[in-house]
Amino acid sequence: MTPGTPDQGLHEHLARLEASQLYRRRRIQEAPQGPHGVVEGRPVLSFCSNDYLGLAAHPEVAAALQSGAARWGVGSGAAHLVNGHSAAHHRLEEALAAFTGRPRALLFSTGYMANLGVITALAGRGDAVFEDRLNHASLLDAALLSRAKLTRYPHADSAGLERMLGRASARLIATDGVFSMDGDLAPLPALAASARKAGAWLMVDDAHGLGVLGRGGRGSVDHFGLGLDDVPILMGTLGKAFGTFGAFVAGSEALIETLIQGARSYIYTTATPPALATATLAAIAIAEREDWRREHLNALIARFREGAAQLGLTLSDSHTPIQPLPAGSAARALAWSHALERAGILVTAIRPPTVPEGTARLRITFSAAHSQTDVDRLLDALSGLSASDA
Ligand SMILES: *Cc1c(COP(=O)(O)O)cnc(C)c1O
Repeated sequence: MTPGTPDQGLHEHLARLEASQLYRRRRIQEAPQGPHGVVEGRPVLSFCSNDYLGLAAHPEVAAALQSGAARWGVGSGAAHLVNGHSAAHHRLEEALAAFTGRPRALLFSTGYMANLGVITALAGRGDAVFEDRLNHASLLDAALLSRAKLTRYPHADSAGLERMLGRASARLIATDGVFSMDGDLAPLPALAASARKAGAWLMVDDAHGLGVLGRGGRGSVDHFGLGLDDVPILMGTLGKAFGTFGAFVAGSEALIETLIQGARSYIYTTATPPALATATLAAIAIAEREDWRREHLNALIARFREGAAQLGLTLSDSHTPIQPLPAGSAARALAWSHALERAGILVTAIRPPTVPEGTARLRITFSAAHSQTDVDRLLDALSGLSASDA
């Protein structure tokens, strides 16, 4: 390395990350998504995917992608507002509106972009946006990009939010439905009441609730028996429980039209491939009709929590497929992850800045594609951990 080159500062920054156990590495997967994978030539049992229903490599979904490609080719060719909006995209939007019980739904290319699009379209300079402090990065980034004043309220604390709202006029309150790194649920009924009182929009990002919670997998809003009047803005992703890719926002006619006219991350980007919409339609149909996937998933979660309690492990209060194992330091989370890897089990260490300083963890996730034997293997490996590294 030549001193004084533009890369020099980068090398120093990277070395600091490495020294503080915060350096991130990608592992190369050599098998389709699923619990039993192959990573860099070695078989692994994974507990870190968001493929909660086991649909990412489902043959019916893959076949729908293939028939979609035969019908539509690959590229959409343009943004939705130019000529990229196909009948396949349109059918998927109608299916998502029906699934969520809302007047309309709008597809976005990713969940990150959906959150940027919604918040920047609805809030701007001079507005106040309130967010749970543990919200997904995309919701927090969106508020910063909107130039509204962002206030982060204490995690899942509706009374805290009430205090902070005070007499301030709030434009929008946004929360994860199921918190992505903790697995707990937002107190949606109380947040809905606060939002109504403040005359603010309530937006729920249900990336980890859809497909998993509620009737037929209708998500955290349905789980609480709430609807459009309580939660006017519902954002969902398609790359997690539905096993494909992309995202959507569901809400009123006026909301969706406003987003079509003004959400920049909707307008200025190429539409996803139409065949992907065909695949997602197939995935949603399976997710909705196959309740056994949710029942099996819940049985796995119960078995894991019971086994972990017997091992004396401290789990957080989560009853969703996201079961974090608190480690504290990044070094410890990394040591645990490496120890599991030596036992052929893949669970990534989640470290700052993804989670707050001092709260590094193993984020264990379950899928309907796991078996009870898989869970027992994980518990077995964890019992080795608690004896040595923990
Ligand atoms: C994954 C995730 C997103 C981003 O969705 P992508 O489609 O992956 O961009 C947004 N919000 C939450 C809570 C997520 O977990």
